[in-house]
Amino acid sequence: MDILHVDMDAFFASVEILLNPALKNKPLAVGGRNPSGIVTTASYEARKYGVHSAMPMFMAKSLCPNLIVVPTRKGVYGEVSRKVFGYLEHYGYKMEQVSIDEAYLDITGAKDPAALAKTMQREVARRFGLSMSCGLSYNKFLAKIASDMDKPAGFTVIDEARGREIIKDLPISKIHGIGKKTAARLRELGIHTGADLLLLERDFLKESFGKMGTELYDRVRGVDLRLVEPGRKRKSIGTEETFPETRSRAFFKERLMESARQTAFLMEKKGIVGYTVTVKIKTRDFDTHTKSKTFPEPVEGEKALYREAKALFDSLYGGEKLRLLGLSVSALEENYSRQLRFL
Ligand SMILES: [Mg+2]
Repeated sequence: MDILHVDMDAFFASVEILLNPALKNKPLAVGGRNPSGIVTTASYEARKYGVHSAMPMFMAKSLCPNLIVVPTRKGVYGEVSRKVFGYLEHYGYKMEQVSIDEAYLDITGAKDPAALAKTMQREVARRFGLSMSCGLSYNKFLAKIASDMDKPAGFTVIDEARGREIIKDLPISKIHGIGKKTAARLRELGIHTGADLLLLERDFLKESFGKMGTELYDRVRGVDLRLVEPGRKRKSIGTEETFPETRSRAFFKERLMESARQTAFLMEKKGIVGYTVTVKIKTRDFDTHTKSKTFPEPVEGEKALYREAKALFDSLYGGEKLRLLGLSVSALEENYSRQLRFL
């Protein structure tokens, strides 16, 4: 099986440079300009100063005083994404787009998979003026690791033997599927790298981390049987948080704000908008209640999301002690675009 993972380099920043060539070779961050704003994408020049995605903007500016901040544009990146990935689809291989700037292609059967990948990379640069990194391997997990190894404009091939060596040295935070919480729990167990993870038994991982645990067991051995599924779509995006029982409204309000912030960031990063907002609570008796509202226009941005979530929460909450609060957005539209014509 030949799986290719393609990942556009510093995508939002690269599109901004395309639209305004004066920004070329400058330290640039795309993201929120207000004090609470976060960096959505940093150009490679900005990354040299330590600026990276998801970093608060004030921190980015203190690391890089010359940083040029460009606000995230609505719709534009989705439009470019559609053009680039629409072009890649024309090669006729199965393609699964996993975010606004990333896709897997199953190029099994290609006469020369590496040459094909290089052609795609060169043509994307020539036709759209955008650089893309490629990773070629025998499964999704390693293809994604490969595309990340030599950015920007990288091209990396990982075969089985090399795959096993690479995984051993991989910090656990780089292993797909390991989120912050899982990473923290693994570190408590003294597990920091792929090699450490190899020491854990399947049953132990299953008991400790459920289904994801068995997946980790496989991944770290270079096994990933996931197929490239062209039609696969994310159904919802959001966060859920459990905490010691409380009825503090101030606490709920603060957690909702944080959820709205995280969810809005993820949606922006992935180029997704959604029409339905859902708030979920779990009471001390483990009763779960949810309330949703669907809007005629997509709910975008942290402020709008918080406003709607807070209204739903207020109509749902009766003053009892809670142990869980969740916020999610569904009825999603990927690569949302306002039909701007500029390319
Ligand atoms: Mg990218």
